[in-house]
Amino acid sequence: MNPGSPSSSRADLVEVLDQVHAHVRPLIGQGKVASYIPRLANVPIDRFGMAVATLEGEMITIGAADEPFSIQSISKVFTLTLALEALGADLWKRVGREPSGNAFNSLVQLERERGIPRNPLINAGAHVIADVILSSSPNAREDLLGFVRERADNATISMDEDVARSEREAGFRNIALANFVRSFNNLDNDVDAVLDFYFHQCALQMSCVDLARAFLFLANRGVCQRSGRAVINPDRAKRINALMMTCGTYDAAGEFAFRVGLPVKSGVGGGIVAVVPNAMAVVVWSPGLDGKGNSLVGAAALDRFTALTGLSVF
Ligand code: GLN
Repeated sequence: MNPGSPSSSRADLVEVLDQVHAHVRPLIGQGKVASYIPRLANVPIDRFGMAVATLEGEMITIGAADEPFSIQSISKVFTLTLALEALGADLWKRVGREPSGNAFNSLVQLERERGIPRNPLINAGAHVIADVILSSSPNAREDLLGFVRERADNATISMDEDVARSEREAGFRNIALANFVRSFNNLDNDVDAVLDFYFHQCALQMSCVDLARAFLFLANRGVCQRSGRAVINPDRAKRINALMMTCGTYDAAGEFAFRVGLPVKSGVGGGIVAVVPNAMAVVVWSPGLDGKGNSLVGAAALDRFTALTGLSVF
């Protein structure tokens, strides 16, 4: 295929993934795994997987694309979707929608902005989102799991209790953030309950294939590609994509827009999901993180993917 010419045929994408893999191979093993969550310290740094799910129903994979990993902050897109369905536009009274320009677990802005987190994709914002979901459902955790399983078309997806417990035991910063938000009366539920839900959403175990399927509705104006039914309305899908683009990789969002040019969401488990509107979802997993908590290889792979295919919103 011609570099830079948009193409999404299966044969082209198979070749593109091969080329992307060859391009990033020398980088695999660089960066650091997220050892601040003790249970994630032992994940082999040399893993690499990638999956592309298209609206035509194709799934193209390379490497360890079927291996479940800890999705961590990628879960914030699922919970944001549920919270928006529960509360609608009132959600924006409790959380902003501007990029933070700070680390995902930073405390500094919260005091100045009186407990209203900058956006739903930083940790404090995700705590508020978790609180909204807890208030809207007596079975919040099961509801989230059900939603994710349905989106990914995989009933075996689970939350790793060991990861959740491990993060809770070392979760001093999240505990501080949630209590601080609570001090501004921006949490209605018990802080421990909010954090328990948050640590469990982060502990969802999914593969690149699961995530690619699960994010397809955001590439499809909110419509499930398999059933043709609306998961959310197109307006909401547009807004979630916009937040991923501007806030999905925290203080690297500008750099990702520059290099990749797609709505993306990363997690410290080493996964990054990218949405190509009206075309596909692309997922990369490699656990070595850069200094901002994004997969180093994942960023390079998406950079290369968009360069080779011309698939970018710009
Ligand atoms: N559970 C992680 C945390 O709160 C999620 C962070 C991330 O994936 N960026 O620190």
